[in-house]
Amino acid sequence: MVAGVAGFDAARAGALLTVDLEAVRSNWRLLRDTGAGATCAAVMKADAYGLGMSVVAPALASAGCRVFFTAHLDEAMRLRPLVPVDATIHVLHGPPPGAAAEFVEHDLIPVLNDPSQLAEWRALCRKLQRRLPAALQFDTGMSRMGMAPADVERLLADPAWKDELQPVLVMSHLACADEASHPMNGLQRERFAALRARFAGIPGSLANSSAVFLGPDFHHDLLRPGAALYGINPQPGSANPLRQAVGLRARIVQSRVVQAGDIVGYGAHFVADGPRRIATIAIGYADGWLRSLSCRGHAFIDGQRVPFAGNVSMDSISLDVTGIPEARVQPGCEVELLGSHQSVDDVAREAGTIGYEVLTRLGSRFHRLYI
Ligand SMILES: *Cc1c(COP(=O)(O)O)cnc(C)c1O
Repeated sequence: MVAGVAGFDAARAGALLTVDLEAVRSNWRLLRDTGAGATCAAVMKADAYGLGMSVVAPALASAGCRVFFTAHLDEAMRLRPLVPVDATIHVLHGPPPGAAAEFVEHDLIPVLNDPSQLAEWRALCRKLQRRLPAALQFDTGMSRMGMAPADVERLLADPAWKDELQPVLVMSHLACADEASHPMNGLQRERFAALRARFAGIPGSLANSSAVFLGPDFHHDLLRPGAALYGINPQPGSANPLRQAVGLRARIVQSRVVQAGDIVGYGAHFVADGPRRIATIAIGYADGWLRSLSCRGHAFIDGQRVPFAGNVSMDSISLDVTGIPEARVQPGCEVELLGSHQSVDDVAREAGTIGYEVLTRLGSRFHRLYI
């Protein structure tokens, strides 16, 4: 099945983004099999890391995924009609103040991160006289989200909450899972084990993508991968076991020859040292091709690496295509930005960021093709 979705026409768009849904499904199956015994969820936040939740979520559901996470309530409300009725949707940020009732209305499970969210959920349970399901998040060292040790002591000192709400998951999040030998991993795992012992009988979840590859001690009952589903290497430095899910090709708008001393682009950061052929492609930082790739990024033409010439503009990037056959650098010709020659992680490295940022910045002006 090939489906073009939304917005920009294939013939007119400056760039074509392809999302390989079978790669996403295959990555989910690999994660599930690696965490043998644990349920494998899928993290859908930020529009499925930029790939498009409306297509990715049903694709994962068709592979058997029945547990999903979003960051925001709004994202979860949009996700609800896209997945089977028996699918569970957790909202990582929990209920925004005053919004708890919307979770019930849309069949969503909040992740309760602090005493005020817990109090709000308990109040709703009492009001509706229902033990509403909720996940409890504990901070085990990242100091970002989740109940602090003092909150946990207060919670355990007042067991009434257990009769009010239905705890369906205890979870925490690792700060350094992408560095397998980082001491934080073992420390957080031990703290999580101690917490689980005090919340006996409730399923546990600690692993993001990277932690799935830290071994069975990190798997518990539920895996929460996001990045790895979309092809990002979960253990930088080791071979990537996952399939690339995203391809991106941009069109050449104009091609010209410059002479020694001519400059290219804003700021004149490229100065030709002799006759050079410059091709300008229709993608820029407004499309998520980060400006930090100025003078550093690369594209590929028939497998040949061509460097960015000068600064990335809002809507265009100039390439030094000297030496590439002229017929391949005419207006309308395509160059590869993501594909078999360049991964999301490769681009991230050149841009001085991580693959997560490259994917979640992918713009809205591409023609999108879901394969
Ligand atoms: C984003 C997130 C995940 C998924 O992390 P990846 O590294 O993308 O696999 C899992 N759990 C929590 C709490 C998150 O915020």
